[in-house]
Amino acid sequence: MASISYRDTRGLDPMPRTFTDTVIKGIAPGGGLYVPERVPVMPLGDILGLRRLSYAERAARIYSLFGVDVHPEQVSALMESAYGENFDHPGIAPVVEVTADMHVLELWHGPTSAFKDMALQCMPLLFSEAISMRLAAGEKLDDYLVLVATSGDTGKAALEGFADRAHTGIVVFYPADGVSELQRKQMVTQRGDNVGVFGVRGNFDDCQNAVKAAFADETFNSRLHERGLRLSSANSINWGRLLPQIVYYVSAYADMVAQGGVAPGHDIDVCVPTGNFGNILAGFYARKMGVPIGRLLCASNENNVLTDFIATGVYDIRSRTFVTTPSPSMDILISSNLERLLFELTRDPETVRGWMSELERDGHFQVDRETFAALREVILGDWVSNEESLEVIERVWSEERYLLDPHTAVAWEVAERLRADDPVLVVSTAHWAKFGADVYKALNCLRHGDVLPADAADLSGVELLAKVAEMTSGAAAVPRALAELDQLPERFPAVVDAGRDGVERAVLEWLDR
Ligand SMILES: *Cc1c(COP(=O)(O)O)cnc(C)c1O
Repeated sequence: MASISYRDTRGLDPMPRTFTDTVIKGIAPGGGLYVPERVPVMPLGDILGLRRLSYAERAARIYSLFGVDVHPEQVSALMESAYGENFDHPGIAPVVEVTADMHVLELWHGPTSAFKDMALQCMPLLFSEAISMRLAAGEKLDDYLVLVATSGDTGKAALEGFADRAHTGIVVFYPADGVSELQRKQMVTQRGDNVGVFGVRGNFDDCQNAVKAAFADETFNSRLHERGLRLSSANSINWGRLLPQIVYYVSAYADMVAQGGVAPGHDIDVCVPTGNFGNILAGFYARKMGVPIGRLLCASNENNVLTDFIATGVYDIRSRTFVTTPSPSMDILISSNLERLLFELTRDPETVRGWMSELERDGHFQVDRETFAALREVILGDWVSNEESLEVIERVWSEERYLLDPHTAVAWEVAERLRADDPVLVVSTAHWAKFGADVYKALNCLRHGDVLPADAADLSGVELLAKVAEMTSGAAAVPRALAELDQLPERFPAVVDAGRDGVERAVLEWLDR
């Protein structure tokens, strides 16, 4: 097994870490993010050879290159359960040729119909394995309680990933005023004995602030400690969530060659609908491994702080207001994983530390000329307005009979604008049904103004999906897990007050349940 250790982007953790260390720790002391000290190279022949392997085997192969310190047989077993029957497509992450030059990587065949499943069906297995390994070695270790504040997709995917995993519990807080009815139903019907879900009176900010305050509260932490519990966030800055995302870029290239979408060794461009920069960063690492990716195209919605950065080299969140969009999972001001890209471009922890403290202190930073030039060689970006993104859904449906969700529509549009001669792989991050109301609007009433017609306004989320499926003559089917939501019992009806106390009380009462 190749031995690769992990360092942090700000150079404040003095120790080289193993893969499982990074999974358990999540974030480095001093706020830096863990990165591999070197990126393994995969020869083209090995990449193309993946076509003969199942997706689980492809993942295990790539994990071994990254020095994952879990026994290889155990890694294989974990990947079999991470990427198996829980997905509704045997390819797990298939590539669909929509036009000769535009291919779509479908990352939403998992249990929650959004791409977070690609990492969250896998990372919790590695997390509980990492704890078991340490306990078996005689270490004394607490169990972990994962606390999540969610605006929708992450919460459900994390619940589904951590449900009934050993040595962990998970409690999710969502804004009672801030998720769709369908997303709420997905969460409050969650199965599992180690899960809890609470609505918070307020919006996502209230929800996130309350959870952050609970993390920082020493009294609360020591009360949990008395019960043998430690808090963890398992959020998208964890390297254990990033590594599973590298796999599908390598896998997709092998599939594209096998399907005749690109000649072996020929470059493709990859276009990614971006929020926290995790997904596109995984594409950057795949490129570094040797996958023939020419350019990475970063697609933003109206919250376009990132594409402005890619255009100017200045990251500036001052005087930006948060805009509501049909692609809420990309609504973000601070893209945490950008820090890893800056590290890879400079390999200089002191420089990265400087930029990150400028951002925290002043709300902006500017990279130097060389770094900006290195960035522009690999990454281009553009953004798409709310209205345009819905128009794209309608256009691609009527021209290609392929139904996009609003996030993927943003990427599709940017891919069309920026593409050159190479085929483009558009990364699709959600099943359309997850955002059914906007898809319905896009297909139906764009020409009649921006409101749902009366016949749709009263429908439940699930009924609306059925209506879209009907409009597409069944060509766009609703995933079973979503179609059945109305039949499941609501296990977690509670809504608590915003603020630290409300969240902490909810957790303690849940523990005593
Ligand atoms: C999380 C998410 C994104 C953004 O991905 P990042 O890794 O945060 O850039 C895009 N689309 C959907 C549907 C998501 O759930």
